[in-house]
Amino acid sequence: LNYSTAHFMLSAPSLAQCPNDNGAEVAFAGRSNAGKSSAINALTRQNALARTSRTPGRTQLINFFSVMNATSQRLVDLPGYGYAKVPESVKREWQEHLSDYLRGRQSLRGLVLLMDVRHPLTEFDQMMLGFADERDLPVQILLTKADKLKKGPANNSLQKVRSQLSDWEDLVSVQLFSALKKDGLEPLSKRLDQWLMH
Ligand code: GDP
Repeated sequence: LNYSTAHFMLSAPSLAQCPNDNGAEVAFAGRSNAGKSSAINALTRQNALARTSRTPGRTQLINFFSVMNATSQRLVDLPGYGYAKVPESVKREWQEHLSDYLRGRQSLRGLVLLMDVRHPLTEFDQMMLGFADERDLPVQILLTKADKLKKGPANNSLQKVRSQLSDWEDLVSVQLFSALKKDGLEPLSKRLDQWLMH
C-alpha cells in the first residue's frame, strides 16, 4: 500500500467514539518519546501527520488515519504511555481506554510496538504484549532511534530482545528502525501490507 496517501480521519477519546469497526486497521503504540510520531511521519512521508503533544488531555486521544483514500484501511495512533507528569487518575483512565481498544477492536489486525533501542521492554511494553497475546494479535516491534547506537550494539539489542521474546516468535517480529535515517521502513511496510491487505 502507498502509505504516503494517509490522511487524518478523526480523534476518538474512547472506544465508543472510534470509527465503525469494519475493514482493517493497524495500531501504533509505545512509551511517550519512543519515537512513535516520527515513525508514522517517516512511513507516510509526511512531516506533521502525527504530532507530539505535551498536554496530557490530548495524549489520551486515539487518532485514526485512512490509507489509499479508503476508510476501510486505517493506521491508528494510540496514546503514548508512561508519561510521568500525568496524575494517577488520568493514567488509569488512559490504561482503560487502551485495554478496551486492544481487547475489543475487531478490525485490529496487528500492533506496531515502538521501543527506544536503548531501553526496550519496559513494564508498559510487556503489558501491551500481554494484551496482544490474549487475542493472538501479531506484533511488529520497532527498536527505534537505532541511529543512536553503532551497528554492533544495535544488533546486540535486537538479538537480546528477540531472545527474550522467543516464546512468542510466531506472533512477534522485532526489527531495528530509525526515522531519522529512514532505516527499517521496508520491513515495516511489508508487515503492514500483510495485515491490511488480507
Ligand atoms: P513519540 O512521543 O513517541 O511520538 O516520539 P517522537 O516521535 O515525538 O520522538 C521523540 C524524540 O525522539 C524527538 O525529539 C525526536 O526527534 C526523537 N527521535 C524520534 N525518532 C528518532 C530517530 O530515529 N533517531 C533519532 N536520533 N531521534 C529520533
